Amino acid sequence: MSKNIPELFGSMAFNDTAMKERLPKDVYKSLKRTIETGKHFDLDVANAVANAMKAWALEKGATHFTHWFQPMTGVTAEKHDSFISPETGGGVLMEFSGKELVKGEPDASSFPSGGLRATFEARGYTAWDPTSYAFVKDGTLYIPTAFCSYSGEALDKKTPLLRSMDALDKQAKRILALFGMTGVKRVATTAGPEQEYFLIDKSVYDKRPDLQYCGRTLLGARPPKGQELEDHYFGAIKTRVAAYMRDLDEELWKLGVPAKTKHNEVAPAQHELAPVFSVTNLATDHNQLTMDVMKSVAGRHGLVCLLHEKPFAGVNGSGKHNNWSMATDTGANLLEPGETPSQNARFLLVLAAVVKAVDEYQDILRVSVASAGNDHRLGANEAPPAIVSVFLGEELTEILEAIEKGKPLGDRKKAVLDIGVAALPHFPKDTTDRNRTSPFAFTGNKFEFRMPGSSFSVAGPNTVLNTIVAESLSCFADVLETSGDFTGDLNRLIKQTIGLHKRIVFNGNNYSDEWAKEAEKRGLFNLRTTVDALPRLIDKKSIGLFVKHKVYTEVELHSRYEILLENYCKTIRIEALTMVDMVKKSVIPGVFEYQRQLAKTIIAKKQASPDLSVEPESKLLSGIARLSDALHGRLADLEASIMDVKTYSDTLEAAKFCREKVFANMTALRAVADELEINLARDCWYFPTYAEILYSVK
Ligand code: ADP
Ligand code: MG
Repeated sequence: MSKNIPELFGSMAFNDTAMKERLPKDVYKSLKRTIETGKHFDLDVANAVANAMKAWALEKGATHFTHWFQPMTGVTAEKHDSFISPETGGGVLMEFSGKELVKGEPDASSFPSGGLRATFEARGYTAWDPTSYAFVKDGTLYIPTAFCSYSGEALDKKTPLLRSMDALDKQAKRILALFGMTGVKRVATTAGPEQEYFLIDKSVYDKRPDLQYCGRTLLGARPPKGQELEDHYFGAIKTRVAAYMRDLDEELWKLGVPAKTKHNEVAPAQHELAPVFSVTNLATDHNQLTMDVMKSVAGRHGLVCLLHEKPFAGVNGSGKHNNWSMATDTGANLLEPGETPSQNARFLLVLAAVVKAVDEYQDILRVSVASAGNDHRLGANEAPPAIVSVFLGEELTEILEAIEKGKPLGDRKKAVLDIGVAALPHFPKDTTDRNRTSPFAFTGNKFEFRMPGSSFSVAGPNTVLNTIVAESLSCFADVLETSGDFTGDLNRLIKQTIGLHKRIVFNGNNYSDEWAKEAEKRGLFNLRTTVDALPRLIDKKSIGLFVKHKVYTEVELHSRYEILLENYCKTIRIEALTMVDMVKKSVIPGVFEYQRQLAKTIIAKKQASPDLSVEPESKLLSGIARLSDALHGRLADLEASIMDVKTYSDTLEAAKFCREKVFANMTALRAVADELEINLARDCWYFPTYAEILYSVK
């Protein structure tokens, strides 16, 4: 039965249409003003909104409400309260006040604060974010909120994101004013996160403790058929997967998430979903919601959705391409090459601002995508390397070079480019060709940041992007606002910026070894692992930047640094312990069993007839016995290193040890276990194999 999608879309979201329909006119206006300009509103308004929201939510079947927030670890957090309020007669009323809408006080003590919150002041509070729509899911009204400590420090990912959007808005408006665009009330960043994921059958998942506890396989020999035939990408979607995707789309549409594109990805069992882009804050909430819904809808189909960056070794991992731009409330995309000389000058200035930002703050962009999971991806010939660079495409690069050198532009344009005076040649969209190896690519009218991992919140990467670009724009505005010769200074500024920062531009193959060498020559960072990258977050320059733009205080940055490091150590520890458990409880018993079977066969054959050859059995048995010895040795090494982590009191030292010793020991143990898997009889290997997992969805 075909459904009425326009009617379905947003039916479970208290979106603009619902607000307009249900709020008194003046209340709606005042809420809109808050949403658009960030102006404060009174309790009267909050009460009226709460009332209308409650009535709407009850109609949608809600019995509870929750302040939904994004703590510094994990996906999202929620605590549900029912609307009921007992009456004297023994009955109940369904109540929801403006105060309950605006502010919540969850016991925050079990969320990580990185030392921000003293235990005697464990409370935190959640504050309604009216710029993101409330929605009803599973009988609960979800209210998007920011989460802060009582002294006002951010304990979540949304607060810094909102602050960074404000910072960019402020600086971008200074620049636009110089171009005479004084009517712009708000410059918002936009994001369209493309989400990759794996879909496997629940029956295989249930037999893999590593997938259950760590989200990725810790053991597993390569399957006979992997992705080498490249027959999965954009291939026909299997019936069961198609049914899942259809269901997923509908659930997302109901919640107002504009799911748009779906297709198979490179690896077997890998797929992608992309939404239509929206204002970053909303896009971030929607992406969190998308990840949630992906998992729950999978359950209904007897499937499991894996969002880990590297569920399977030797098979492509999953990322999240963060498409990013800046848009005015008047409808202009600031990364859209213009039609007029003035628009083109503005475009070039904004482009120069982004190039400068990415070059100056490569390290913190790298930090924004650092995690134990993403370490398996970055630099593994499938995702961009750990080196940050910008792809601009040949044509745009040529234009920038011509500007820098004050030279004519090839045969395409004879005249010397004079920004703000001459019109730029058109850049047809298809010339911004698809360099899939670039970590940060200009794709026509937006940048695509390809480093974030699939399980990430895009709040972090966007917070950094917004802040570093705000900083560039602020430097530019400082120069141009005091200029007596706007066009001349604009020209000089763009020229100078290109000259200073062109080392970050790279249009070639980012996966090649030559690039790593070349990047080193250019003096670019190559922060290979999370442990290498994280200390950059609390570098003086990084602190200065975030404090200047009021995105993080120094204390907040330190707390985040601590949490990220701790999280890294914990992840490695959980993985190591899971691996030890799997090896002891299943791999070793399987190895012993197979050795027993082989020995029994040898004895039986000898007994039956001393002339029978037992050479193949003996060879196999001694091979397995050798591997078994190695397995025990490496297991002992891993267990010892897990214990040794405790001797480090400094978190950074502990994290380094986790990377250099624990992780290395896991890799060594895995190599032997995988070799055993290949040589053992199928019924002596107690886990579903890679082939069985990757091709589990028929
Ligand atoms: P791809 O070929 O990489 O899939 P698409 O053109 O399909 O590229 O766009 C991918 C994502 O980029 C989509 O989510 C889309 O909505 C988003 N996008 C397009 N324009 C913008 C923009 N101005 N700002 C942010 N995201 C955008
Ligand atoms: Mg893309």
